[in-house]
Amino acid sequence: MKHHGDVSRNHDTRNNAPKVIILGAGFAGIRAARSLAHTSAKVTLIDRNNYHLFQPLLYQIAMAGLSPAQIAIPIRSVLRGISNVEVLLGDVTGVDLSQRQW
Ligand SMILES: Cc1cc2nc3c(=O)[nH]c(=O)nc-3n(C[C@H](O)[C@H](O)[C@H](O)COP(=O)(O)OP(=O)(O)OC[C@H]3O[C@@H](n4cnc5c(N)ncnc54)[C@H](O)[C@@H]3O)c2cc1C
Repeated sequence: MKHHGDVSRNHDTRNNAPKVIILGAGFAGIRAARSLAHTSAKVTLIDRNNYHLFQPLLYQIAMAGLSPAQIAIPIRSVLRGISNVEVLLGDVTGVDLSQRQW
């Protein structure tokens, strides 16, 4: 699934809330989204997968100590209850900084 977005207006015109786009729901993206939780920012988090992969435990999958589902957590469940963060599934192919589009 492909998405195209526009942050040309980086503030919500109704309440002047800043719009923040986070690319990737790895450790960094999840941390960023959580740090903006319950602020006035309107946050969109985009990942090509619908899950957050806990990479440090990948070896446990290789040795059959854990099942894949135990280290691949749905992003929406990680961020459940955070109403100002929207999660989108999409493969980002580029960011046009001059046009403020992704
Ligand atoms: C086997 C293994 C063991 C590790 N053990 C440790 C450890 O013990 N301690 C430690 O501190 N670190 C460990 N690390 C490193 C740690 O996992 C990484 O440093 C960390 O995951 C990096 O986080 P990140 O958010 O920068 O990137 P990532 O976690 O890689 O997240 C990037 C996200 O962006 C998404 N994405 C990428 N490109 C696109 C695109 N074009 N469009 C849409 N989505 C995209 C990906 O799907 C992914 O969800 C380990 C790594 C591995 C592989």
